Amino acid sequence: MADVLVIGAGVAGLVAARSLRASGADVVVLEKSRGFGGRAASRTVHGQRIDHGAQFITVRDERFAAQVEAWSAAGVVTEWSRGVARWTAVEGWRMASAESNPRYACPEGMNAIGKALAEGLDVRLHTTVAAVRPDADSWSVATRDGPTFRATSVIVTAPVPQALALLTDIDITNDVRGRLEAVTYAPCHTVALGFGAVEAPRWPGVQLPEHPDLAWIAHDSSRRAPGTADGVTLLLHATPSYSRLRFDDLPEVIVADLLAAARPLLPWDTDPTWSFHHRWRYAQPEYTLAEQAFEVTTGLTLAGDAFGEGRVEGAYLSGLAAATALRAPG
Ligand SMILES: Cc1cc2nc3c(=O)[nH]c(=O)nc-3n(C[C@H](O)[C@H](O)[C@H](O)COP(=O)(O)OP(=O)(O)OC[C@H]3O[C@@H](n4cnc5c(N)ncnc54)[C@H](O)[C@@H]3O)c2cc1C
Repeated sequence: MADVLVIGAGVAGLVAARSLRASGADVVVLEKSRGFGGRAASRTVHGQRIDHGAQFITVRDERFAAQVEAWSAAGVVTEWSRGVARWTAVEGWRMASAESNPRYACPEGMNAIGKALAEGLDVRLHTTVAAVRPDADSWSVATRDGPTFRATSVIVTAPVPQALALLTDIDITNDVRGRLEAVTYAPCHTVALGFGAVEAPRWPGVQLPEHPDLAWIAHDSSRRAPGTADGVTLLLHATPSYSRLRFDDLPEVIVADLLAAARPLLPWDTDPTWSFHHRWRYAQPEYTLAEQAFEVTTGLTLAGDAFGEGRVEGAYLSGLAAATALRAPG
């Protein structure tokens, strides 16, 4: 039996596991996918590394700043840009100011953060948790096709609707359930486009705050180490409203729509040589709870970007808070 089982090897789960292990706890992380980092995600498509989840990280808290500095020294992250551009139909372009706060990215892809955090931890990949149940003085965690794990405490870091689906056998007060059920997430259609050797855009990324369909374009290949990307790769995000309305549309329809929306902003009219599509049902919380670590009942804590400030930094701080809460006496 482990001291702590952590469900999810995203940023929150891995940080919680690292912090607890550093204080001597026996921790096992269970992760349904084949890799680390969760929504801080990357993959290789058509020979190019792309970030199809989180685009960059920003830093406010001094604990996260110290971590980003350490990642920077280890080459895991580099400063990608100072601010990003903005475009609206009425005002046109507004370029990033050099005084803006730095945005950090990973030359090897954003999941380099998850890989770094997972080093030395006991993480079981391809392990989907099906249910968490109380079991005398401990917790029993059933997996879909594998063993049942037991531990004194459990931290669940899946997006809240997925976390609640694992907790159906647990007596949760109406107040707690109501607060958790209020946490909704915006979906996001993501499209990567490879253009080969075209003129590089003048911006690292551009936000489109008033566009009905397209929210964001990143010059994804500008995040890679010099000389490692083959041509220009762009990464597009649909708006939450478009993503919600068109969630089940075919990938080719989404790719065509977002490409058409992006074209007027590109300094070339060449067609992409390849495309890639990914849909996130739970991309980012639309509403977060103030508690950085949310105790459902004794020994069962929820953590992740829905608790605290959101985004990668919020997930990091929530993981730390969950570990601190478990270490606190009583
Ligand atoms: C398209 C997109 C763009 C974004 N852009 C930015 C950005 O620019 N900057 C920023 O800071 N943030 C951004 N974010 C948000 C950021 O990625 C998240 O806030 C952060 O990564 C969340 O980390 P987490 O650990 O809370 O959750 P997750 O990363 O979701 O980790 C949860 C983990 O739990 C696993 N899991 C779920 N259910 C189970 C189960 N039943 N059994 C086992 N494992 C399970 C999942 O596979 C996942 O690995 C973006 C997210 C998306 C999707």
